[in-house]
Amino acid sequence: MGGLEEGLRRAARLIEESSYLVAFTGAGISAESGIPTFRGAGGLWKKYRPEDLATPEAFARNPRLVWSWYKWRMNIVFSAKPNPAHRLLAVLEERGVLKAVITQNVDNLHRAAGSKRVIELHGSIRRVRCIACGFKEELREPPSEDLPKCPSCGSLLRPDVVWFGEPLPGEALEEAFREASRCDVMLVVGTSGVVEPAASIPVYAKAGGAALINVNPEPNAYTGIADVELRMKAVEFALKISRLLGIEV
Ligand code: NAD
Ligand code: ZN
Repeated sequence: MGGLEEGLRRAARLIEESSYLVAFTGAGISAESGIPTFRGAGGLWKKYRPEDLATPEAFARNPRLVWSWYKWRMNIVFSAKPNPAHRLLAVLEERGVLKAVITQNVDNLHRAAGSKRVIELHGSIRRVRCIACGFKEELREPPSEDLPKCPSCGSLLRPDVVWFGEPLPGEALEEAFREASRCDVMLVVGTSGVVEPAASIPVYAKAGGAALINVNPEPNAYTGIADVELRMKAVEFALKISRLLGIEV
């Protein structure tokens, strides 16, 4: 039936004919840059569930354990490079087709690829903030201490990311929903679609009349509502669709 090829052609047509394209991305778009997704992470940390580490309770109980997990993840993120899927979105923005990237990722790879309008819903793993005062700092490398302390007040520093059970940054969330209501096509790449409230954004876009393109090697939360379902990895998608669109990534 040529399902995938036909799906790619339909996706290319939707992108070309869109007047307001918005992307919504998750950990899967960075998987081929070497950053493990939450569902399916391996190695040393296999015995822990991210839901048991990325929480304020875990940090209060055992900040050393949480910091050592984050330092492991920071090391990976700091040496990771954007892949063709990140670059595709940057090129589409440069051409005026893509208006914004809404991301659940904390790895900064969209900006590293050249995307300008990036709405970060879950913060950044390249930044720390003090748990007591307003101190924030961009990092150039993972902290060397086991328990990094605030240079201004001496309290513990934490990664400036949103943990399970914490509210999302209000402004970013509002902006994301505004973009979702404006877009006529939403390109969803590499998310399971189970972490709320971010997961509702494509559903909201769809309810507002947008067409959804869903790129994921596995079925996910949007499989039933997507207009085009592309069961493939992000990089393969980027390489194939860019050829159809006549652009280089
Ligand atoms: P998730 O781990 O729940 O799901 C990852 C999804 O990506 C899955 O649906 C999987 O099938 C898909 N996937 C795996 N490899 C892929 C590939 N090569 N191409 C395309 N898709 C692929 O991730 P999520 O939906 O982003 O939600 C989990 C939370 O984890 C997010 O809120 C985010 O903050 C955090 N997180 C971020 C990073 C990052 O910044 N890179 C990494 C891990 C987790
Ligand atoms: Zn402080």
